[in-house]
Amino acid sequence: MKNLSTTLFIILIGLCLTHTVSSEKCIQYLNPLNSKENRVFDCLMASPAQKRQLPTPPASDNMFNVQFNCLVNDKALCSKVENVFVTAGRFITATLNLKAVISVNATFLNFCEVNIAPGIDCNNPNKVILGAAGPAMVIPYKDETADKVRLYPQALYKQLGLPSHPQFGPNEIMAVFNSAANYWFEGDPLPMPERQADMLLVVTHELIHGLGFTTAWDDLFGINALTPVIAGITDDDASSKAPGGVIPKEPNAPAGSSLQFLELIFDKFMILTADGIQMTTQTDELNKFQIDVQNIKSEEQLVQAFMASPQYKVAQGLFQKATTSGSMGFKTISGDVVILETSLLPFQSSSSIGHVDFATYKNSSDFLMVFRSPTATLGQMMATAGSIDTYGPIGPLLRGILQSMGYEIKDKYVPPVELPSAKFPNKEPFAIKPVPDDVNEGTNNKKMSNNGRINSPIGINVLIIALACILVTLFM
Ligand SMILES: [Zn+2]
Repeated sequence: MKNLSTTLFIILIGLCLTHTVSSEKCIQYLNPLNSKENRVFDCLMASPAQKRQLPTPPASDNMFNVQFNCLVNDKALCSKVENVFVTAGRFITATLNLKAVISVNATFLNFCEVNIAPGIDCNNPNKVILGAAGPAMVIPYKDETADKVRLYPQALYKQLGLPSHPQFGPNEIMAVFNSAANYWFEGDPLPMPERQADMLLVVTHELIHGLGFTTAWDDLFGINALTPVIAGITDDDASSKAPGGVIPKEPNAPAGSSLQFLELIFDKFMILTADGIQMTTQTDELNKFQIDVQNIKSEEQLVQAFMASPQYKVAQGLFQKATTSGSMGFKTISGDVVILETSLLPFQSSSSIGHVDFATYKNSSDFLMVFRSPTATLGQMMATAGSIDTYGPIGPLLRGILQSMGYEIKDKYVPPVELPSAKFPNKEPFAIKPVPDDVNEGTNNKKMSNNGRINSPIGINVLIIALACILVTLFM
């Protein structure tokens, strides 16, 4: 179809990070486009002096402190992009009662001019990577009421105000965006061309991922089996050398040490909608898989052992549900069940599960976290949903999700910004269907999930925002 060839299709393959770390180690990510650029270190407790030095946030309408690095020679464009981060920060600050500043390291640069992402094909004009974002650090934590240790994005961990805490990394969220991509900004002509994406919508979406809207459940090894991330035993050196998730052998690992599956805090609230079973019970089932770490020499060996275990069937069953519409949900502490995205066939790592169900929420005030981005601006989306003055970009169910994980929601929402584009309604922001073959661009999860990227094969029409996912291979 000719009209489709002139429009835009973008896949935000989220931040999928493969690592090895212990439950007492923190992971700092250095490049959202290359998960191997990371630092694993002991979660040293902060000294009293360091804690006193933690910034007490001033009353601010923007609790996001964006360290913006603009590496393009266009000051006007740099200014526009930086302003988008400020606006997105104000929308989130108007919604969440943030108790600690959230530091975002954001860089705007031409991906093809620097060696930032492995595997980028700069010679293919149909594939433009837009960018990526996600938590800059995750911290293992178990509160007194929790049944198990789970990984917390540092942004959330800081909000908990714990009496003692690990030394934090310098940033909570990191983001990179490609200056070679074509973004729309408030003030640009309307209607927004289909080739463009509203950067404010994309940045807000990605910041929500960075706050913790991200799941550890994935087809980790590309064997049509769903598991959380794997924990085990390793050391820092081994982890930094781990190629593509290969399990390195820990020379000092205690004999008989075993692997374990580990969840993110988001996963605590996931349920199977058919029977209301909590996904975390499935993690417990999977953790009956026992293997001596000392005997594992490669990822392949681990996969073979897992496929020979009874737990493989459990993981296969869950994978089936991850590709069955409406089968997984997030049950908030208020009891609402938010349907998660399990309609994608085949399973799309970093798009499946880690978003709200597209069909259910695309036209609601909870549109923000669907996996596809609209051919409409954020202002237009809010206007269509009727949520400009009630919820803003963060709808009631998304608020429930963030609250369940530990964020505090403000009692009253006051719109921090008026978006002019909201006055020009776009009634059908998802009217154009993606071309199936091009949709499949993002389905090679093995290939795409090891680094966070946003692809925009020109010739298609829909912006797809995929989740900033974390595949953390943890060695306890
Ligand atoms: Zn997403």
